[in-house]
Amino acid sequence: MYEVIVIGSGCAGSTAAIYAARASLKPLVIEGLEAGGQLTLTTDVENYPGFPEGIMGPDLVDRMKQQAQRFGATYRHGAVTRADLSSRPFKLWIGDERLEAQTLIVASGASARWLGLPSEQALVGHGVSSCATCDGFFFRGQPVTVIGGGDSAMEEALFLTKFATDVTIVHRREEFRASKIMLDRARANDKIKWITNATVTEVADPEAKAVTSLRLRSTVNGKEWDHMTSALFLAIGHVPNTDVFKGQLDLDEQGYIVSHGGARTNIPGVFHAGDVEDRVYRQAVTAAGAGCKAAIEAERLLEAEG
Ligand code: NAP
Repeated sequence: MYEVIVIGSGCAGSTAAIYAARASLKPLVIEGLEAGGQLTLTTDVENYPGFPEGIMGPDLVDRMKQQAQRFGATYRHGAVTRADLSSRPFKLWIGDERLEAQTLIVASGASARWLGLPSEQALVGHGVSSCATCDGFFFRGQPVTVIGGGDSAMEEALFLTKFATDVTIVHRREEFRASKIMLDRARANDKIKWITNATVTEVADPEAKAVTSLRLRSTVNGKEWDHMTSALFLAIGHVPNTDVFKGQLDLDEQGYIVSHGGARTNIPGVFHAGDVEDRVYRQAVTAAGAGCKAAIEAERLLEAEG
């Protein structure tokens, strides 16, 4: 029986673990399928306070984990496959293994969104990727394409210019959601080409087990054409990892946890932290702040209950 179980090991989860561990609550952190969370898929983090020269994403989460472990947090591999939040202690399962906790901090984050085309799914790992930092290297000297109009798309495209002959950003609108600084940086890079007002309708060629071209459709006049490319990188946002809590925690229509004030969910003793609830800011520093809040609330609840 744990006093606190933290679900997720990204910025939010590890910060919650640091605070809970320093409060002598001996938290267990269940790392999840993507241990370390989204920062493990990124390169330079330039906006996390305290690192004026920047820090590599995987480095930052690893340091947070070490910090939590130093105060007595335990990390274990695995993902929660089932949860029963109907009464306390709360019950969680990792496969057949059952765990119990007085309080839970849900910091399970969000995972990359896919277009959902069968041809795209057939080519994941064969030229279709949601992680330029992981897979960009394989496309050295080849043309690649990034889908999306946010900061992630700009960041991935800029990163890919290190390897690719050229990088085309395909975006479904004319306006970009990306911040001005990221957009300006991408616009200043000669290797980046732009196709706006277009969506992907098909990825060729699943038969060849490689990406050879994309079928694009104009959102203005519906015309279709083929765009030759060797890889497709998706940067079209994320979906929250809340499937195991459906029907128990209050979720919005996109699946994000609905906050009941502070770090509270609709179930007393279950707290949220990070991108699993935050669809607005979604930054490493806001996730860390949310982890801190959740741990303080868990600690106060346990203390009030004696
Ligand atoms: P985002 O801001 O939600 O942008 C997603 C982009 O994908 C949007 O341009 C969206 O188009 C497009 N999109 C969504 N679904 C699509 C679909 N089915 N087909 C085609 N296009 C689709 O997500 P993000 O770029 O991952 O950024 C998330 C957060 O992380 C943001 O707060 C961002 O600032 C932050 N971030 C910061 C940095 C940095 O500062 N270095 C780097 C990465 C991310 P519409 O615009 O038409 O909706």
